[in-house]
Amino acid sequence: MKVARVIVDVPSRDADRPFDYAIPDHLADWIETGSRVAVPFGGRLLQGIVVACPAGAEIDPSRLKPVEDVLDPVPPLSPELVELGEWMSRRWLCPLSVALQAMLPSALKGKTEKYIAPAPDAAWTEEDRRAYPGLIAALQRQAPLKLSSLARQFPGAADAVKRWLKQGKLTERQKVEDRLSVKKVLTVIPPGEDKLREALASIPLRAVKQREAIAYLLAHPEPIGQQKLAEAVGTTASTIKALADKGYVALEAVAANRDPYADRAFEPSAPMRLTEAQAAAFAPIARAVDEGRGGVFLLHGVTGSGKTEIYLQAIQRALAQGKEAIVLVPEIALTPQMVERFKSRFGDWVAVLHSRLSNGERYDEWRKIREGRARVAVGARSAIFAPFGRIGLIVIDEEHESSYKQEESPKYHARDVAAERARRHGAAVVLGSATPSMEMYAAAKYPETRPETDVRPVYIGLPERVADRPMPKVTIVDMREELRLGNRAMFSNLLKEKLADRLQKGEQTVLLLNRRGYSTFVMCRSCGYTAQCPHCDIALTYHRGSRNLRCHYCGYAEREPEACPSCGSAHIRFFGTGTQKVEEALALAFPGIRVIRMDVDTTSEKGAHEKWLTAFRERRADVLLGTQMVAKGLDFPYVTLVGVLAADSALRLPDFRAPERTFQLLTQVAGRAGRHELPGEVIIQTYEPEHLSIASAQHHDYAAFAREELRHRRLMAYPPYGRLIAITLAHEQVPLLLSLGEMFASRLRARAEAAGAARAGSGEYPRFEVLGPVASPIPRLKDRYRFQCMVKYRGEDVDAHAWTAQTLLELTGAAKKHGVQVSVDVDPQMML
Ligand code: ADP
Ligand code: ZN
Ligand code: ZN
Repeated sequence: MKVARVIVDVPSRDADRPFDYAIPDHLADWIETGSRVAVPFGGRLLQGIVVACPAGAEIDPSRLKPVEDVLDPVPPLSPELVELGEWMSRRWLCPLSVALQAMLPSALKGKTEKYIAPAPDAAWTEEDRRAYPGLIAALQRQAPLKLSSLARQFPGAADAVKRWLKQGKLTERQKVEDRLSVKKVLTVIPPGEDKLREALASIPLRAVKQREAIAYLLAHPEPIGQQKLAEAVGTTASTIKALADKGYVALEAVAANRDPYADRAFEPSAPMRLTEAQAAAFAPIARAVDEGRGGVFLLHGVTGSGKTEIYLQAIQRALAQGKEAIVLVPEIALTPQMVERFKSRFGDWVAVLHSRLSNGERYDEWRKIREGRARVAVGARSAIFAPFGRIGLIVIDEEHESSYKQEESPKYHARDVAAERARRHGAAVVLGSATPSMEMYAAAKYPETRPETDVRPVYIGLPERVADRPMPKVTIVDMREELRLGNRAMFSNLLKEKLADRLQKGEQTVLLLNRRGYSTFVMCRSCGYTAQCPHCDIALTYHRGSRNLRCHYCGYAEREPEACPSCGSAHIRFFGTGTQKVEEALALAFPGIRVIRMDVDTTSEKGAHEKWLTAFRERRADVLLGTQMVAKGLDFPYVTLVGVLAADSALRLPDFRAPERTFQLLTQVAGRAGRHELPGEVIIQTYEPEHLSIASAQHHDYAAFAREELRHRRLMAYPPYGRLIAITLAHEQVPLLLSLGEMFASRLRARAEAAGAARAGSGEYPRFEVLGPVASPIPRLKDRYRFQCMVKYRGEDVDAHAWTAQTLLELTGAAKKHGVQVSVDVDPQMML
């Protein structure tokens, strides 16, 4: 009997070690490293992932509990991904079970049992029938058949079943929701070339569309959906059916993936001839891909410098090597054009892992990757776990975006995972951005300043736009000056003038509101009462549509009060979201203006982003108004004016990255205006025109910003010149939190002291510190108080990561006993 070493899905630090189970004989062919299994654990049946199948003689399987069941016919994780999970768990100090779960597509989360059923048109070969008569009969009679009972009844059938699944003769199903069943699509199966030529000769000339369809098949001799073929030649399905009726082509119902892009036609695109600058940037990347020796590159190119074309050609090189490629984009719903460009170049080889797909759709795309039917995966953060076996290239577009860091456990950063995965595959990594993160820029451009990053890319600059379209002109409006002139409105006189001008010319405007810093609360004019969440220390947000007050952290909601709950006054005022206020001001200033507002209120529905952006692209509105999200979807030919309201509202947030984020946002917005024929213009309204972030954005001067900002970071030992680990403790009782926090901090300090790292170098920032425990920026959440400790350290000999891990382990027992929740964020991105 074999043994399975299983990480059971209980996300608790003290159960985070593998447990051994015996593999019963009938499951032996089904279970390997990466399999998902059901095992008895603490009197319950739980899901787990097999991380090893040791064959050593030191384990006596007869003393072990047996694995109850295997949950998938093909293991969802490969041994490589299991190892990557182990690495993640060490790197981000998270339980291994949590790291492994993060790699599974969500359709496989939770305990789902798999059923096997034959596809309706499954054609068994004579050989199949001879070799597995009982199995085929059972499948036809009893399907869907539970995987475990199939395994029990038909020992030795594992290989055949896996093969049939791959061939589409069998399908996987889930019992409860059958979302994973296969959809059928009428597909044209073209005969050989000779047959097609014969057909062409015999179809009468006046049957133009039928002839065109045959001609199309001659040029593209692969099976194609009936509908797709009809669209390709501009006719209807009945034309195709006529061809089938006459026997020229075969028409079959074929299992189709729920390809969310199936009903979209993509213009095929050919590689462009690279400009000299592009070619120079491309050369080292291409060499790294060709040689398969890995390497990370920071491709720093202004918007429009042709980075995407470089990605596409680098992918081409990887595919030519028989390898695969992963492309990460920050928020795929906002970048439909990006997906289009990949689909156009690589067609059906592209799988899109879209955060807004249904679980079933995403699972289909994921299976395409695992089964080798797709070789390029495009997706957001978690696409970094795409189950490829031979990765040649990983691209991370807009490398600086904060969405690459997951804010719940495992709190991983996709960039670090990419570098690690690439190392194992000998793949190249391209990090592209117009405004690289301070971490990557310092590591690539100023390695001599010894930034402390795990990823150390090679710097590649691309400072010019491809076509010589000028960068847009940026004007800064000092709002203090406006006040002095007696203008108390939201819009400066200049912005108002320019807006009026665009309205008159029929051109479009984007207005960006840096939402943070705008109040969205309910306040009593008489007593100053503000509505707070009863469970969190957070002001409730007013939602005009549903007329209620909601907590964005715990979901608590209450109806809008008619009078002040505190003093009874009727002078209670609702401050809508910042964007609502701007919308009202626009309507007042420009009667009849058509505004599309994009914010959390208007984009919560599935597909809402795309809907609004499309409406705006089709010029059904004059103004697109929104928060950060409009900056990302910004690529519209008729936009000639971009206005930024309150550019500095996020600068004073207690987060050392606030200036960096503001600079990135302003640069992104500024770089995107006027990408097309019409020249663009940007107006930034601010109270701090001389602030580094704003002044350097005005001059499109990344280098100047980075120099100053990095100097400051170095002085303060902030990343990348120092590292952070945040530990947050949460519980109902404050004294308990304080004492546990103190215990953690003092033990950690003692460890550091013992290692001789606690002393500061002369005149330097301390090489190791534990700050806190102090109340977290959000001191109470869901009725639990929160305290945090921050570990700040630098120096290669300061092993604070390991000390923290050990100290946390010691804390686990006490925390568990009192029910204190402990969360760890290694290299945190959000200080709030
Ligand atoms: P980025 O990704 O840096 O913003 P893109 O790759 O989108 O830049 O390129 C900007 C524009 O220039 C696009 O319209 C693209 O089609 C075009 N372009 C890129 N490379 C070339 C090239 N070598 N020759 C001609 N046009 C190009
Ligand atoms: Zn009041
Ligand atoms: Zn709340």
